[in-house]
Amino acid sequence: MFSYRHAFHAGNHADVLKHTVLIATLDHLLEKEAALTVVDTHAGAGLYRLDGDYAGTSGEAAEGVLRLLSDEKKAPAAPVPAAKSAAKKVAPEAEAPLADAIARYLSVIHDFNPKGGARIYPGSPFIVQHLLRDHDKLKLFELHPTDARTLDANIAQLEAGRQIAVLREDGFGSATKFLPPPSRRALVLMDPSYEIKSDYGRVLDFAAEALKRFATGTYAIWYPIIPRPEAHDLPRRLKTLATKAGKPWLHATLTVKSSKLTTTPTGETQRPGLPASGMFLINPPYTLKPLLAAALPQLVERLAQDRHAAFSLDSGG
Ligand code: SAM
Repeated sequence: MFSYRHAFHAGNHADVLKHTVLIATLDHLLEKEAALTVVDTHAGAGLYRLDGDYAGTSGEAAEGVLRLLSDEKKAPAAPVPAAKSAAKKVAPEAEAPLADAIARYLSVIHDFNPKGGARIYPGSPFIVQHLLRDHDKLKLFELHPTDARTLDANIAQLEAGRQIAVLREDGFGSATKFLPPPSRRALVLMDPSYEIKSDYGRVLDFAAEALKRFATGTYAIWYPIIPRPEAHDLPRRLKTLATKAGKPWLHATLTVKSSKLTTTPTGETQRPGLPASGMFLINPPYTLKPLLAAALPQLVERLAQDRHAAFSLDSGG
């Protein structure tokens, strides 16, 4: 069951999208003084070495955060045209100033790599902990025995005491126990590995139950865009769920390449690797859409692997 290890994928284009959205969302939620609880239902190991064996094997960060970092120095000039909505292809904008949400994401990566580059890549638990204030709380769920042990050890180094709880429990099954938190302010990040196709249904069940318990929480769900009916249906079903609950939603996607199978010169069929992913938020901060409208065209431009690169940004409620 547990063959997925996030270390192979840390810092890839999907992490760039997910963590850019996560940071922009947290920045807004942390503007209010009242305590915030963040629940990370699928936490991973917490910290990753991009020069380590795992990341080196896949090289996915090279097409993600490392590309952004190498482009960072490119000079700004013209303003970025605001994105209007669905599935746009974007012309090169090498002259544009870096969008605020991307600059903010990269500033967090820099905080973990004060000597430059990105040898260390922070996963969601460390990104969140880095931004939280002393009176906020972080609940981390991780089931993989090795990653849970690594997460425990990584978190122990922070000496954060009761601020952070690491639970070796099923994030789908038991994370709703923290909802609503005493301060009635929470962000739930749901980032499963979707190794088994029942994960898609479990995301929906979790979101439905969580909304019943705590209708005003902010829910951020990552999913892969792959040729699988469950993956295709997930955002549509989440939209229906949010709309029926009378809650606003936001849906952002980033495609970096075609999803078509290719044939090598020797006649072998090759899978393209993950071509695209999406973030679906229920009760998103109102500040998120304009930030992403500026950031997504630049992510397309900078992370495109072929002419199929595109983004979409949509909201409702
Ligand atoms: N959120 C992390 C980040 O952004 O750095 C990455 C998480 S990774 C995509 C998904 C993780 O969920 C894996 O480490 C996997 O072992 C773990 N996992 C899978 N099923 C789980 C479950 N039912 N409950 C908790 N964790 C689970």
